[in-house]
Amino acid sequence: MADILTMGMDVGSTTSKCLILRGGKDIAASALIPAGTGTSGPRRALEEALEKAGLKREDMVCVTATGYGRATFPGADYTVSELSCHALGAHALDGEAKTVIDIGGQDAKALCLGPEGKLLRFLMNDKCAAGTGRFLEVMARVLEKDVSDLAEMDALAAGMTPISSTCTVFAESEVISQLAKGADLCDLVKGIHRSVAVRTASLMHRLGVEAPVAMTGGVARNAGVVRALEKELGTPIRVSPLAQLAGALGAAIYGWRKQGERE
Ligand code: ADP
Repeated sequence: MADILTMGMDVGSTTSKCLILRGGKDIAASALIPAGTGTSGPRRALEEALEKAGLKREDMVCVTATGYGRATFPGADYTVSELSCHALGAHALDGEAKTVIDIGGQDAKALCLGPEGKLLRFLMNDKCAAGTGRFLEVMARVLEKDVSDLAEMDALAAGMTPISSTCTVFAESEVISQLAKGADLCDLVKGIHRSVAVRTASLMHRLGVEAPVAMTGGVARNAGVVRALEKELGTPIRVSPLAQLAGALGAAIYGWRKQGERE
């Protein structure tokens, strides 16, 4: 089992993530392509991960697909829900985490983990763009910035321009009107992050927040959102450098466990 190679493929709404795991533990390679389901992203992520590891598709004992577009990924041996994979992946990244908040391109999931990363309870917002990566992408576009610029702008803010609308469409109009009034861009970004944090904290409070809290998903790469959420929750949030790969990691672990069951 120690040399068994399993691949996890997270076909997201905005980003395709692929991870190759050796022996259910060691990451042989990973790839992250900023193009999601319905694009060439999943195939490119798979090819890049294989190339980095110097391996071939046939070397994989199994491929497990998860994520929003998992059903469209060709040739997967297993297709597994994002919730199970994120729980497994988040636990592998941080074995102590009891509450996990995953914010991706178009949903937010709050997970409560038990021993060995077992998913005890969860709550999900997949009905509304507010409080998701999509909200941040819309706001970044209005500000003529990239989502990857937002954390630095937040850190430079001297104050905060609050955004009162919770709806993405109304919040977009509010940001445009603040820009027309000459609001400082960094202060606006801080207000945008606070809006995401308030929304996320409310989802998490409904689930029940138990420390340690970890954050996964692409939005965890935005330190401005992480800081704003820490403030809302009044507790530190742990973020792994591999946070965006949690789903792909969980999928690869799932495949490895399945092989163990077959032995
Ligand atoms: P999905 O699986 O739905 O594609 P991800 O978990 O990959 O979603 O997260 C995508 C989101 O992550 C984007 O909407 C964006 O807000 C955020 N994001 C991605 N890259 C970065 C970055 N470099 N800095 C800040 N935020 C990022």
